[in-house]
Amino acid sequence: MNENLNPSDENFSNEEIDVEKQLRPLNFNDFTGQEQVLENLKIFVEAANLRDEALDHTLFHGPPGLGKTTLAHILSNELNANIKVTSGPVLDKPGDLAGLLTNLGERDVLFIDEIHRLSPIVEEYLYSAMEDYKIDIMIESGPNARTVQINLEPFTLIGATTRSGLLTAPMRARFGINSRLEYYQTDLLTTIVQRSATILDVPISMEAAIEIAGRSRGTPRIANALLRRVRDFAQIKGDGTIDIGIAKFALKALHVDAHGLDEMDNKILITIIDKFKGGPVGITTLATAVSESAETIEEVYEPFLIQQGFIMRTPRGREVTEHAYKHLGKIKGSVQGGLF
Ligand code: ADP
Repeated sequence: MNENLNPSDENFSNEEIDVEKQLRPLNFNDFTGQEQVLENLKIFVEAANLRDEALDHTLFHGPPGLGKTTLAHILSNELNANIKVTSGPVLDKPGDLAGLLTNLGERDVLFIDEIHRLSPIVEEYLYSAMEDYKIDIMIESGPNARTVQINLEPFTLIGATTRSGLLTAPMRARFGINSRLEYYQTDLLTTIVQRSATILDVPISMEAAIEIAGRSRGTPRIANALLRRVRDFAQIKGDGTIDIGIAKFALKALHVDAHGLDEMDNKILITIIDKFKGGPVGITTLATAVSESAETIEEVYEPFLIQQGFIMRTPRGREVTEHAYKHLGKIKGSVQGGLF
């Protein structure tokens, strides 16, 4: 059983990715939450459909698992267009991008996940495609080398990033629509858990759905992952129904605490308190101390811990708050272990 509930994609098996696809909302009506973002997108899509034009290039940013990929698919469905999916690190040569772009039909969508990780040369190549729907292709090589300009069909680029701060200014400026996704409140996640339980055909009580939702780090992907794991417990330890008892039992066994913090969240807090007197501590030092990459801490763990008021970012590094001491039952000033 995969107990790793880290919200980033790399930690999911193929089978889990398949189930995730099954649970993915396909149109605006199925999508819960992000109301403001959705309201605007509906208007932009309706207007583009009325004018029979491609939707403006769209950027989604926010922590992993909040629905960026889902929204890209929903937009293509609502535009009645095809979607091609790729990601920044995969596109390492302009040629790869040219192949994708020239195969797009009118109003189609090209979705680039992790767009902040495009190589500078590919990124530059994308500029003229986004702006003028034109690209230059180099044909032949050596003394006969020459470039020809190719016209593309009007298309929509949808970019997703967990780190909008790492996008270059010229890239960001080329997106007409720029939407930030926020963590979800428990009531919205409860609706998502209930919807997923219906799709997975597993009976769940309201109380159990609220319990799972409340422990999902504000993230639909985690809510769905927890639901699937709790379902396993319900099947093996119970009668297949998820009630509050089995939900609490399973969540405890999965080391998810009452705030939905997972082992790494708690390890980060405990490390800052025990090894760095509550902070401030620099991100690279912290990363070494908890054996995780600085990038993952910044992208995945820190945004939620900050949003929930467990840590603060200060000019000198990360500091835990009073809330974190209370959560861990620790007293400020009592150092255990000292600097490593
Ligand atoms: P991201 O691209 O931001 O990492 P995804 O779009 O892949 O996140 O979402 C992860 C999973 O969470 C999806 O498979 C989908 O099932 C679920 N999900 C995300 N947002 C919602 C939502 N608003 N309503 C219902 N399910 C959602």
